[in-house]
Amino acid sequence: MSLVIENIGQLVTLDAAEHDRPIRTDAALVIEAGRVAWVGDAAEAPAADSRIDAEGAAVIPGFVDSHSHLVFAGDRVDEFEARMAGRPYTAGGIRTTVAATRAASDDELRARLRHLVAQARAQGTTTLEIKSGYGLTVADEQRALRLAREVTDETTFLGAHVVPAEFAHDRAAYVDLVCGDMLTACAPYARWIDVFIDSGAFTVDEARRILLAGRDAGLGLRVHAGQLAADGGVALAVELGAASVDHCTHLADADVEALAASARDGAGTVATLLPLVEFSTRQPYPDARRLLDAGVAVALATDCNPGSNYSSSMPLAVALAVRELGMTPLEALAAATRGGARALRRTDVGYLEVGARGDAVILDAPDYRHLASRPGVPIVRQVLVAGEAAQ
Ligand SMILES: [Zn+2]
Repeated sequence: MSLVIENIGQLVTLDAAEHDRPIRTDAALVIEAGRVAWVGDAAEAPAADSRIDAEGAAVIPGFVDSHSHLVFAGDRVDEFEARMAGRPYTAGGIRTTVAATRAASDDELRARLRHLVAQARAQGTTTLEIKSGYGLTVADEQRALRLAREVTDETTFLGAHVVPAEFAHDRAAYVDLVCGDMLTACAPYARWIDVFIDSGAFTVDEARRILLAGRDAGLGLRVHAGQLAADGGVALAVELGAASVDHCTHLADADVEALAASARDGAGTVATLLPLVEFSTRQPYPDARRLLDAGVAVALATDCNPGSNYSSSMPLAVALAVRELGMTPLEALAAATRGGARALRRTDVGYLEVGARGDAVILDAPDYRHLASRPGVPIVRQVLVAGEAAQ
């Protein structure tokens, strides 16, 4: 089956080979067998089995959200209200969700997860990474990853999210568990391992041990670092060749230099910025301009989770990146698509050129910059995943 999207007013291909022409006007796009088969001027579009008339709208690559925590139960909106009233955000709120998640049935977790994935899809997300991290027992972490695997291949073992309450007086025993039985049980369901480095979570030394154990088990590496302080996590991520270090709100100059050097090496460590977290915790935003000007590879993701940010909106992340992080609209869109793909070491998604997966979003707007200038409106008209209309 082939599909042609015709009458595209503005097609953002983000084709790396055509740096001078990442955007086409009066374009058409053909998807065949799930892959982009042809891109060109609308007047020259080949015939196809079916067609979509974009009616002059902008078409962009589907968003690649490389950071989310969607397997959980319970609700923390009271905590949000208290935070807005002045109480500071701390990592300890995660334990509230852990208790609710352990008490939930598989069906409850699955129903919530599928609902959240559908919401992300409706906002243009076509590739989605999902972490465990609200179980924190061998069985509950494995269950979270098994459920996440039902909806995405990009699953991440985050047993090292926080130290659970029952190990509060013996952190070393919990790190042993994460590196031992928990990793063994979870690795078959995970592509990645991640550690939350924070004064309320894990130290750099603990993280090193956990990440090396994960690497030995065949998992790729990701790190949460620099959310609330320059904590040394970025240097660790670069040293170990992590695919991504996420948050990067607080960075030392040496961190920026290390990330830039790693980007020059090719498959280096991406700095993934999560501005919805700063929005939802009323913290200072990361400085994307500093990173981009230094040559760092930057991605944008949501970090959708029940505590520090309960929004899965990639369009809002793009708008915040332009409004608050110093990115141009094109830089922000590229970070939310190609950048996310790079953070997941994927070469098949995040752009629209021949050979890429047919993940395309038709906007309800004539220009992609409306993503930044019209936050909060339903700007996604139609979402295609591998050429199929998303449910
Ligand atoms: Zn996170």
